Amino acid sequence: MSEANIRGIVIVGGGTAGWMAAAALSHMLAGSGMAIRVVESEAIGTVGVGEATIPHIQYFNRLLGIDEDEFVRRTCATFKLGIEFVDWGQIGERYIHPFGTYGQEMEGIHFHHFWYRHAQAGGTLPLDRFSIGVGAARAGKFMRPDPSRRGSPLAGISYAFQFDAALYAKYLRERAEAAGVVRTEGRIVDVTLNGANGHVDHVVLDDGSSVAGDMFIDCSGFRGLLIEGALNAGYDDWREWLPCDRAVARPCARVGDPTPYTRATATSVGWRWRIPLQSRTGNGHVYCSDYVDDDTALAMLNDGLDGAPLSDPNFLRFTAGVRRKAWDRNVVALGLAAGFLEPLESTSIHLIQTGIARLLTNFPDRSFNQPDIDYYNRRTRLEYEQVRDFLILHYKATARNDSPLWRRCRDMAIPASLEERIAIFRENARLYRHDNELFSETSWLAVLHGQNVHPKRHHPIADILSAEELDRRMTHIAGAMDAGVRAMPDHMAFIDRFCRSPS
Ligand SMILES: Cc1cc2nc3c(=O)[nH]c(=O)nc-3n(C[C@H](O)[C@H](O)[C@H](O)COP(=O)(O)OP(=O)(O)OC[C@H]3O[C@@H](n4cnc5c(N)ncnc54)[C@H](O)[C@@H]3O)c2cc1C
Repeated sequence: MSEANIRGIVIVGGGTAGWMAAAALSHMLAGSGMAIRVVESEAIGTVGVGEATIPHIQYFNRLLGIDEDEFVRRTCATFKLGIEFVDWGQIGERYIHPFGTYGQEMEGIHFHHFWYRHAQAGGTLPLDRFSIGVGAARAGKFMRPDPSRRGSPLAGISYAFQFDAALYAKYLRERAEAAGVVRTEGRIVDVTLNGANGHVDHVVLDDGSSVAGDMFIDCSGFRGLLIEGALNAGYDDWREWLPCDRAVARPCARVGDPTPYTRATATSVGWRWRIPLQSRTGNGHVYCSDYVDDDTALAMLNDGLDGAPLSDPNFLRFTAGVRRKAWDRNVVALGLAAGFLEPLESTSIHLIQTGIARLLTNFPDRSFNQPDIDYYNRRTRLEYEQVRDFLILHYKATARNDSPLWRRCRDMAIPASLEERIAIFRENARLYRHDNELFSETSWLAVLHGQNVHPKRHHPIADILSAEELDRRMTHIAGAMDAGVRAMPDHMAFIDRFCRSPS
């Protein structure tokens, strides 16, 4: 090992972020001689929420060599084909934002341009008919994609999971400890900096012992014990665009088979989530404290539960935004310590995953090269901004007029990046995916269309087909989607067959 190499990593915090980092680093750095320690405090505990994911988590699990059926069993997971949004554009409306794509590209342009031409000419096939994800979600069906069925929508099924995040952290902890990660139980009461370079030197625990390392990964949650508490990296507050600042979570008993999708229902003061697992249904109400008190927000959550509550409510407070420097000196913040974007599109666990991937790509030595750190911070910020814009769209694209929250959101000024995107779409239906950003054209289309933002025109290339040919293709693709959905097993039957959790 070179003298310059990092020899010891200390991960502060054992929530989802801490154990994802520990499992990934111990796996990827196996054989390097690197000592990895996790310091966590059971007395402080974890945030205790975070149940819905997006498809990219499959890559993370695969990278770690995790068997997917075992993972589903161990985390009481169900499969997720998308999110159903209820009452967002207008009260009484609902749409599904599916994973995967709509239709298929034709003549080198996105399918939706052809669909808009079809609709503008009086065609009656709704956009949803062109998504296998929406069709299967509504029918309660699920299967993994079958690559052998080339040309069939069954080859393009895209999915994620709804799971018990505490069980996921426990599962990852087992794997990390088996790979040599050492866990230290204790509350950190002090952080000591190196007088020469300002790096974190060691953390001091409540029993007086200390833990030192070359690099520290701050996974301490909202408090950002190292990145903010010790290094004052700063935080950009985005509440002007994402005004919700509190949540209350409360699981309930499962009633009926779990749906293969998450539901997000807008309320007059925020929105409620419903995430069905094998073992129970996760519920929560995200709200803006300017317009409602905690007791009323809880009562609104309780009113919407579809089974008996299984625990006391868990109240949480947060500020939407991002750490100004996710990496400062020898500290890299991951998870809630790096920033928080509300869970409307289930992105937080994904942002942990991409943070870990970026850290591995830019893995430092003990010189902590500043240009590498600057690059990491620029990419991290861009990623948060891109997700932020997509979330803001859900609040902005509304015609709701029934409460101060919705009037405020409808009338608020939005970031220029989002304004431009909406303006281009409104004019000619064009959607762009910048810089390999997380949300694809499908996602933008689902929310724009689902919340009644409609374009004036479509791409001129969509006019190349004759009206008869367009009709023929539309009918054919919709028929193939329907046949695909019919061929899929029921979601619960799939779970029973391959990955039923014993509990
Ligand atoms: C309302 C809500 C809903 C969410 N829903 C989703 C979702 O559906 N999907 C999704 O992807 N994400 C969701 N998230 C985000 C998700 O919960 C987090 O990203 C994820 O749990 C990671 O949290 P964490 O590990 O960063 O922090 P935490 O879970 O807070 O863990 C912090 C760790 O640091 C330790 N610690 C703190 N201080 C000290 C100290 N002084 N000494 C020792 N140890 C200490 C704690 O003991 C704990 O182990 C949601 C978040 C909220 C608030």
